[in-house]
Amino acid sequence: MLSTRGLRSAYGRVEALHGVDLDIEEGQIVTLVGGNGAGKTTLLRCISGVQAITGGALTFKGRDITSAKAHARVALGISQSPEGRQVFTDLSVEDNLMLGAYLRRDREIQADRKSVFAMFPILEEKRALLAGGLSGGQQQMLAIGRALMARPSLLLLDEPSMGLAPILVTQILQAVKSLRDRGVTIFLVEQNANAALAIADTGYVLETGRVTLSGPARELRENAAVREAYLGI
Ligand code: ATP
Repeated sequence: MLSTRGLRSAYGRVEALHGVDLDIEEGQIVTLVGGNGAGKTTLLRCISGVQAITGGALTFKGRDITSAKAHARVALGISQSPEGRQVFTDLSVEDNLMLGAYLRRDREIQADRKSVFAMFPILEEKRALLAGGLSGGQQQMLAIGRALMARPSLLLLDEPSMGLAPILVTQILQAVKSLRDRGVTIFLVEQNANAALAIADTGYVLETGRVTLSGPARELRENAAVREAYLGI
């Protein structure tokens, strides 16, 4: 569905991605794990189009989107839930969700809003309240819900488990699995490698801007180097 080939990105003169090759198969959860500063967020932002690509190529559904603008990528079916949630704190829960549907002109918007509420009932309960008053876990649900309101075929998730209590991590990752089962392809960036590899189909390990390992998630979980570096085993 999506491929990067030799993808590079830099902040000024400092290159953060040194030529990344990665494939996201339709219908899968593909996870990218790696330590602090490995370049995970940079890669995600290059895919959603909010970060400049300085070399290499990016294709989505057979189309070269290397230089496509972010909004054009949303229209093609790529939607991102950003690191740190970044919900609009001064807007209601409902308005945050509706902003996710900003580019849509179809008649399914209300139906999709209902299905976000079915997935995260607490958002329906709090729909008239300001997003800034939600707990961290609820804001994470809102950020995912907002991304879903664009009706993506590829959903990009940046560290959805960050800062959440274990019970909420489980709830969010179960929701991610149910999205995959409904046909949404997911690219999941996580520092929590254990939780991410447990629900993913395919995994990639990124270290200082380079992919160092990739394969079926089940195999990566058994890999000695991965276990030592990322699973604390
Ligand atoms: P984390 O899990 O800590 O968010 P990450 O794997 O997502 O880490 P990135 O945030 O993509 O890593 O950072 C990759 C590299 O780029 C790091 O060396 C980081 O210091 C650098 N970097 C990130 N953002 C900027 C920026 N705005 N300006 C300059 N350098 C940056």
